[in-house]
Amino acid sequence: MLARQHPDARCPRCASRLRYGLKREGSGWKVQYVCPPSDGCGREFSVGRIDHGSVDSEDEAYRRAERLGSTLY
Ligand SMILES: [Zn+2]
Repeated sequence: MLARQHPDARCPRCASRLRYGLKREGSGWKVQYVCPPSDGCGREFSVGRIDHGSVDSEDEAYRRAERLGSTLY
């Protein structure tokens, strides 16, 4: 999974900056947020999934994954 730095999402447990990424799974991606073990607690959060059919490109999937970060609070 290629994880990207989220602009403002923070870990609900330790308040470190989170990374997010898409994990291929069946007909779509699973959206995962990761608290980097290097400067956080190492927890992973699954915030939902995106179907291939509902987006035009992987870039759009990443943009949607970024917005899902607000559901962590
Ligand atoms: Zn954390």
